[in-house]
Amino acid sequence: MDLRVAIVPVGRLDPSEVEAAAVRIAKVLNRPVTLRQPAPVPKAGDDPARGQHVAGPFLAELRGQLARLPVAKIVGQPAVPDPAGSVAPAAPVADATLFVTDVDLYRPQTDGVFGDIDTTAHVGLISVRRLREAFYKRKADPAKARARLVKLALYALGRARGLPDCRDAGCALAATTALTDIDTKPEKYCASCWRRLTTGAYRI
Ligand SMILES: [Zn+2]
Repeated sequence: MDLRVAIVPVGRLDPSEVEAAAVRIAKVLNRPVTLRQPAPVPKAGDDPARGQHVAGPFLAELRGQLARLPVAKIVGQPAVPDPAGSVAPAAPVADATLFVTDVDLYRPQTDGVFGDIDTTAHVGLISVRRLREAFYKRKADPAKARARLVKLALYALGRARGLPDCRDAGCALAATTALTDIDTKPEKYCASCWRRLTTGAYRI
């Protein structure tokens, strides 16, 4: 099983912010990552009273738009093109797709969430809103926000591929419920999750 990953910016998010994160994600995955053209912010899940969107319907509407969003760029390509041409210039199909938005998200019974996952459709959604220091009324720290985005993306991509939370705190797939969970984990998968992610081999 290969691991073709696509990332889609949603709304007014700065595409360079997403691209910089995608380059780091491609490095961790040791594979190119496809960036799609930005998707408009879905109407689904909009809750103007709370200034947030409900994550589930938001992700469902984005998933419906996916086929219409052209490839913008592929990052993390090998410097020397593969002579066999196995790296397609525009792979329309992805094994895992991640939507990244700056809209604040929540699920019923929560104040807010970092994102949502649809394991059946192999798609994930993350919001950068709660990854920024400004959200907590602290001094902006773009480097910290970017590291959080990369780690949360690695988590969401693994979950979108159907992997469960990992019990290894030194793994990007360790459970992510609080910001400190993201800050303490590294920008990589443990050997076991890496194997499952890249070969589909499941531990018994
Ligand atoms: Zn793991």
